[in-house]
Amino acid sequence: MSTPPRPASPFRVADRDLPAHRELVVTPAFVAEATRGLPLRDALDGDAATEGDGGAAALELYEDGENVHVHGTIRGQVTVACSRCVGPVAVRLDEAVRVTYLPAHAMPADEPGDDDGVELAEDDLDVYPYDGETVDLEPLVREQFVLAVPFAPLCREDCLGLCPQCGADRNFAPCACEKPLDPRFAALAGLKLPS
Ligand SMILES: [Zn+2]
Ligand SMILES: [Zn+2]
Repeated sequence: MSTPPRPASPFRVADRDLPAHRELVVTPAFVAEATRGLPLRDALDGDAATEGDGGAAALELYEDGENVHVHGTIRGQVTVACSRCVGPVAVRLDEAVRVTYLPAHAMPADEPGDDDGVELAEDDLDVYPYDGETVDLEPLVREQFVLAVPFAPLCREDCLGLCPQCGADRNFAPCACEKPLDPRFAALAGLKLPS
């Protein structure tokens, strides 16, 4: 541990302050940082769309031996791009969380052979590392905002999306492009039936 902790951060709770209750403010900048690199986030056009992002967390922390249990709610908004038209979609989250911070020796070991570390078992998301001195709530809050993003967000159920040929947003105006032929019928179209 070469980097000193940032004691001023409200996301960090010292062991000596437990049990504790924390009301945290999640800023738009926090959400931007948490979701950096997500394709549907990077696809957003400009910062204006994400102005309403952010939220709040209300968390209870208490010690249980060398573990620390954290439960409470995390609420807020994260804006991502619609998977069809790339327009902004404000995703609301209101999550009840219940997680445990574990000392390093009690953390579940990585699966041998799983060298990219991308695949996390569902249960692994409920535990966070604890150094015995400071509970860092930041990764917990960060993950909730990332997990809130649906696989294929839509600005509305019947979003018409962008025209695959000219790129026009078909929610605003129909374009003149021919509807692409269904590939199942494309073969038939070229078939000359004997008369
Ligand atoms: Zn859309
Ligand atoms: Zn078109």
